[in-house]
Amino acid sequence: MESLICPKCGGNLETISYQDVEVDRCGQCAGIWFDSLEAEQLKSIKGSEKIDLADSQEDNELESRQKQINCPRCQVTMMKMLDFDQHPIWYETCLQCGGIWFDAGEFTQFKDNFQQNRLLKQAMKVLRFKKNN
Ligand SMILES: [Zn+2]
Ligand SMILES: [Zn+2]
Repeated sequence: MESLICPKCGGNLETISYQDVEVDRCGQCAGIWFDSLEAEQLKSIKGSEKIDLADSQEDNELESRQKQINCPRCQVTMMKMLDFDQHPIWYETCLQCGGIWFDAGEFTQFKDNFQQNRLLKQAMKVLRFKKNN
């Protein structure tokens, strides 16, 4: 596969894999590109937040949040999505190929949100179960 260019900073994306799921991470800004469903797969895998080098958060967040980025695969403008649970995070998704872009640190928070949701759903199930009986 040809290597992709980071939509945020123009650096090269390096393919890394965790438990057989391959993602592309920027060698420069540490943002992570997930092809369709890779983020879904990875967030359920224990320890997958290790792929996220969450230490490079210092640079102008507001600016990077407002910047429009293009999908590194299809070159179309990606849509901003807000995941608002434990941590409010903005990430970009491509409506054409279903890929997702996370800035450094965001995947960890995305996964955290997911785990919170799962706990919540489990709690709801228990409540419903009790009600029905
Ligand atoms: Zn980059
Ligand atoms: Zn795309």
